[in-house]
Amino acid sequence: MNDEYHLETLAVRAGTLTTEFGENSEALFLNSSFRFKNAAQAAARFGGTEPGNIYSRFTNPTVTMFQDKLAALEGAEQCVATASGMAAILACIMGICSAGDHVVASRSVFGTTVQLFSNILKRWGLEVTLVPLTDIAAWKAAAKPNTKLFFAETPSNPLTEVGDIAKLAEAAHAAGAYLAIDNCFCTPALQQPLKLGADIVIHSATKYIDGQGRVLGGAVLGNKTLMEPVYGFLRTAGVTMSAFNAWVFVKGMETLQIRMEAHAARALAIAQWLEQQPRVARVHYPGLPSHPQYALAQQQQRLGGGIVTFEVKPRAGQSEQEAAWELIDATRLISITANLGDAKSTITHPATTTHSRVTAEARAEAGIRDNLVRIAVGLEHVEDLKNDLQLLSKA
Ligand SMILES: *Cc1c(COP(=O)(O)O)cnc(C)c1O
Repeated sequence: MNDEYHLETLAVRAGTLTTEFGENSEALFLNSSFRFKNAAQAAARFGGTEPGNIYSRFTNPTVTMFQDKLAALEGAEQCVATASGMAAILACIMGICSAGDHVVASRSVFGTTVQLFSNILKRWGLEVTLVPLTDIAAWKAAAKPNTKLFFAETPSNPLTEVGDIAKLAEAAHAAGAYLAIDNCFCTPALQQPLKLGADIVIHSATKYIDGQGRVLGGAVLGNKTLMEPVYGFLRTAGVTMSAFNAWVFVKGMETLQIRMEAHAARALAIAQWLEQQPRVARVHYPGLPSHPQYALAQQQQRLGGGIVTFEVKPRAGQSEQEAAWELIDATRLISITANLGDAKSTITHPATTTHSRVTAEARAEAGIRDNLVRIAVGLEHVEDLKNDLQLLSKA
């Protein structure tokens, strides 16, 4: 099916399994175990000589539908669904790396990913070097004989820097390593990292794949050989996606393409408007010609995505943080929450929330200033969103 149809069609039609009842919308299998005809069939299923479900920690038909649909959208041979985005990153590392292995990661990855690498996996013997996302020479220089994985997110959070996936893949492969891309911000609707040379795609399905802020989930995708140990970790360690959540995601994916186009159209309009406002010092959005990697974004992503970040100009006597907080507290419509990918627009102050556990020096080095505000643009009308930010219009 995958080569024959467009992404929109795959999003609606791929990965559906139907029962004898002929339901037209995907069924939700809320059961932990599966019955066998007899003892011999049980033995064959456990022995792997007969395919089929055994227990929902391993496989579940609704979770299989989620995996097959997302694999079709990313152009991946296999997808392993996980309980959350963090569980996907953990399963990826546990499946692919061993103690003594080295990972080169972008310093601009999701804050909790840095915590997982630097605080937890380090205790188990994983070595991690953080480098600037857009500095390919730094990635190459950081690679060592024991480097197993390059790990990046593009666009990055919160500054929306764009990393060159093809160049990162080339550098990873030259170092004998795999490239994993966290594709949470773009989703396959806007960017397909495997087609650009990446080996592994990671998702927090919690964000745009759900699209309405309901449930947590994640996924790891790649070829069958790479996914075998990832799945092996999952079925043993139990970081499995719940069937209910898989069902929510399957329904969410049907509208992924039109939602991402709508998020991106609104985000671009907001970014262009922000650039005109007297109280805005700088706007970060990959769809703006002023973005440092605009040309790369134009070629690598279908659209700019839904995340816009900007610096608020403090009024006289106001600190950078006060200026950012004043704007956030003046909103009446936009939700003050760190989640993203929801139909409801959300507003965050990265320095004191998502990036508060990062040291002030590391934040400064990464360009995350105290006047920086991130908006994950939802699906409300653009004029209502602009009105909610009108504080920025008054010099
Ligand atoms: C949210 C997020 C994660 C973690 O996902 P959870 O589902 O919250 O565990 C990982 N990467 C990125 C880019 C994210 O935005």
